[in-house]
Amino acid sequence: MLGLRRATQALHTRWREKTLPRIAGAKYAIPHAKGDLALTFDDGPDPRFTPELLDILAEMRVVATFFLVGRRAVKEPSIVRRISEEGHALGSHTWSHPDPRLASTKVLLHEYEDGRHAIEDILGAEVPLFRPPMGYVGLKSVIAMRLAGVRPWLWNCDPEDWRPGVCRESIVRAVEAASPGAVVLLHDGIELPLADEALDRGETIAAVRQVIKVAGFQGLRFTILPAGDVCEDNRKFQQRIRSSPRAAAAHEDRMDD
Ligand SMILES: [Zn+2]
Repeated sequence: MLGLRRATQALHTRWREKTLPRIAGAKYAIPHAKGDLALTFDDGPDPRFTPELLDILAEMRVVATFFLVGRRAVKEPSIVRRISEEGHALGSHTWSHPDPRLASTKVLLHEYEDGRHAIEDILGAEVPLFRPPMGYVGLKSVIAMRLAGVRPWLWNCDPEDWRPGVCRESIVRAVEAASPGAVVLLHDGIELPLADEALDRGETIAAVRQVIKVAGFQGLRFTILPAGDVCEDNRKFQQRIRSSPRAAAAHEDRMDD
């Protein structure tokens, strides 16, 4: 009995950690990276912190990737344009950053599409890069990501700068321990804060300058995340769903979750 339970658990873990991310086309690290590190910033733009962060990145000649929340982006279009003009990559991070575990497939699809379109409308360009809030890659999210035609990027280095009371030193130490090819999760804004204290991004901003210096000493270069061939890949998936009556019916059922 115990053996059967373990085997079932192993299958479930494999489904959650390997199969679903593979179906979603999710990436966690930069493939074949020799000395590259990708800084990524979620939950912005925040007018109190994002401009200061952009000043530091410009001064230190470093590029990064920003995953923006749609409803914040539409309030700060000049910051969104500045991010793009200064050579950084942009991705979407839903329209309103709901807790994905509590949302239906239909709600997630709307959130993913609306978040993406908000940034595309400001930039007048395709924005396939995407990060699901809380790194959620459950079945509902995978279906919604494929239908929304986004390229999900997760991370493999989390300095936990979202934690209330985190200090700059611990953020720097976590990035110091990252290997080449690492994708680092940081926040220039914060959604779903565990406490109001986390809304102040001062420690992250202070840590970034130090992180860039340390990475320089280690010979690491900074890069932006690529979108890859996600557009073609997702177009095929969407065509398959829409051209097959059975798949379309199943899709409708799932949307009613
Ligand atoms: Zn987030």
